[in-house]
Amino acid sequence: MTTTAPTTAPAYDTEEIQDAGHVDVLIVGAGVSGIGAAHHLRDEFPDRTFVILDAQDNRGGTWWTHRYPGVRSDSDLFTYGYRFKPWRGPSIAAGDAILDYLDEVIKEDGLEQYIRYQHRVTAASWSTGDRRWSVEVTRDDTGQRLRFTTSFLWMCQGYYNHAKPYRPQWDGMDRFQGLLVHPQRWPEDLDLAGKRVVVIGSGATAATLIPAIAAEAEHVTMLQRSPTYYFAPPTTHELAVQLAPLDLPDEWTHEIMRRQYMMQFHWLARTSFEAPDELHAFLIESMRPLLPEGFDIDKHFTPRYRPWQQRIAMVPDGDLFASLREGKASIVTDTIETFTEHGIRVSSGEEIPADVVVTATGFNMSVLGDVAFTVDGEPVDFTERVTWRGIMINGVPNMAYVFGYFRHSWTLRVDLVSDLVIRLLANMQDKGATMVVPTLRPEDADMQRRPFSDPENFNSGYVMRSQHILFKQGDREPWTHMIEHEQEREILPKADLDDGTLVYR
Ligand SMILES: Cc1cc2nc3c(=O)[nH]c(=O)nc-3n(C[C@H](O)[C@H](O)[C@H](O)COP(=O)(O)OP(=O)(O)OC[C@H]3O[C@@H](n4cnc5c(N)ncnc54)[C@H](O)[C@@H]3O)c2cc1C
Repeated sequence: MTTTAPTTAPAYDTEEIQDAGHVDVLIVGAGVSGIGAAHHLRDEFPDRTFVILDAQDNRGGTWWTHRYPGVRSDSDLFTYGYRFKPWRGPSIAAGDAILDYLDEVIKEDGLEQYIRYQHRVTAASWSTGDRRWSVEVTRDDTGQRLRFTTSFLWMCQGYYNHAKPYRPQWDGMDRFQGLLVHPQRWPEDLDLAGKRVVVIGSGATAATLIPAIAAEAEHVTMLQRSPTYYFAPPTTHELAVQLAPLDLPDEWTHEIMRRQYMMQFHWLARTSFEAPDELHAFLIESMRPLLPEGFDIDKHFTPRYRPWQQRIAMVPDGDLFASLREGKASIVTDTIETFTEHGIRVSSGEEIPADVVVTATGFNMSVLGDVAFTVDGEPVDFTERVTWRGIMINGVPNMAYVFGYFRHSWTLRVDLVSDLVIRLLANMQDKGATMVVPTLRPEDADMQRRPFSDPENFNSGYVMRSQHILFKQGDREPWTHMIEHEQEREILPKADLDDGTLVYR
């Protein structure tokens, strides 16, 4: 491999592409998914060669990109952690602790030597004649262009563009004299002492950031167009408290806590479909005692959608509500009319003064890392393709991707998808096949194409904004995805890899 960063970057001719060699499996992304995929690959196929490419200059994906104050998981770390690596901390963890956990996996599996940072994959071309992918890469540090070849491409690129966060344009933004910040690009030296801060947004990021900066800032206003569901679980689960004195092996505690949280989240997901009104009432009423006396809960905390149609934002130990009770934070629910020189005016006419405006407005989704795919010289238009079990794409050979759960911990799916990919590689080996392509059967030819996400099921803003660039799903297995973990943990391990929808050659 010729990809170690030189200390002084030479100037490269950007037209020239250097051969970076061949690997059996090429993993794109060194986040939770890519590191998990590499673990399973090493475990099951220790002799296969592989490399992990990531555009960023460090590991962790999401947890490296997002380093704003207070950044933490929404999920418990027993299910957000891998099945194979016990989590030893409190249920909800700070971003740093998650990076430490990933570092331990990297170290224990000896993965560091296989990761190439600042390697941005720009194009991937499959050749049936050669039975391999040719993967084009640009090094963000040197500008050098490289070409890897691989027999199997494992896309672990996450779901959003790490370089370009989503920020809507509002009237008057250019005349605002304060500082505009996006949580995806948090300035390391930002001093909020004595500053009036407005955080635009109502999702998990806003809920996390506000209590973390409220003590330092003069005041923080959460400005939301519409409310989100919140739930305030304890940072440490009461079952973990009970288990602590028993001095159990870490593996046992990890497994017991995983099962506990899975059961809890399965209940939550099921109830959101079967008894949405009861769940709505439960979530609203559980917030009431945590809010200041007389707080307008209908206006600020009563969403217009069914619970779980968008992610429920977790507020561990109710820290957001404590900031509201202490008067360090407040909420305005209204639409932005215009930015002014010194703040934001909303439709009611109220002007909210601001020295700093944080746009916690979310992501731009990206389709498979914005890589330009071709198969035998034909560009792949993903909007015309359907997913195979949320793991492969019809007509795209030897490529799997990882997309985690929306309503459950992302990582639960990393382990399940990895198991299936490993089974698939073993099946190819047994058959002596060098190629596997998800292919619509004759009976699937007229299958109804459904959007990536049915808005009735899940309709978060970032998904709805991106439906037009995303691949589709069909109306039957195995051409569907976004199946709840409770069902999928049964379905995927038993999925028939010889049902005619995967063609081996
Ligand atoms: C602040 C925040 C909190 C979250 N909390 C939770 C939570 O509590 N629970 C939960 O389940 N989910 C949570 N999520 C969702 C989170 O994104 C996933 O849980 C998970 O981290 C995704 O991991 P990943 O490895 O698939 O992708 P990412 O973390 O997005 O990492 C993908 C990596 O691939 C790289 N990459 C992408 N395209 C290319 C390319 N073309 N070439 C080279 N490299 C590329 C990127 O640089 C990145 O480093 C949260 C998201 C955010 C932003």
